[in-house]
Amino acid sequence: MTTAPHSTVDLFLPDEAATEHLGGVLAARLLPPAVVFLRGDLGAGKTTLSRGLLRGLGHSGSVKSPTYTIVEPYELDGVAVYHFDLYRLGDPQELDYLGLRDYLNQKAFVMFEWPERGGAFLPTADLTIELSLEAPETDTDMPGRRARLISGSDLGSSAIAQLSL
Ligand code: ADP
Ligand code: MG
Repeated sequence: MTTAPHSTVDLFLPDEAATEHLGGVLAARLLPPAVVFLRGDLGAGKTTLSRGLLRGLGHSGSVKSPTYTIVEPYELDGVAVYHFDLYRLGDPQELDYLGLRDYLNQKAFVMFEWPERGGAFLPTADLTIELSLEAPETDTDMPGRRARLISGSDLGSSAIAQLSL
């Protein structure tokens, strides 16, 4: 078995629509089972990107930020989708009580905001997306976002590769 070298790509997202669109494009390429990490400070655009992923997977309603519930489950076109926000996770072990292991044992699409709070309880990400505010060199009040995509598996690598096609 060969493993493709992990790849990285940097993108500029000028506005909220671009962040959501990226989620839609990636959703079409990440065949479940898939694990996506969304990293970045508060306000970086993680939930916006999650909304794009969810819409791309077939969700048409609004997207609740699972800040207080930790996880929001969806069933989209026969695929189980779990949107985690670990910001308020007290202890990584809580992921066990929330049933993460069962979620990962099915052919699910699982996305995590604040994965760094999940410690060793988290699986390896197929794709990690790091979002940051674009440094406002010019004095605009809509600075846009920078997105760095890092693959952690062949699935993630192929999703990144197809981005530039
Ligand atoms: P997070 O979940 O990382 O805390 P959100 O997804 O809630 O962040 O987004 C915070 C704000 O950033 C929202 O008002 C959203 O409209 C805005 N936003 C998202 N992407 C962009 C972008 N590419 N450029 C400018 N603003 C953006
Ligand atoms: Mg959020």
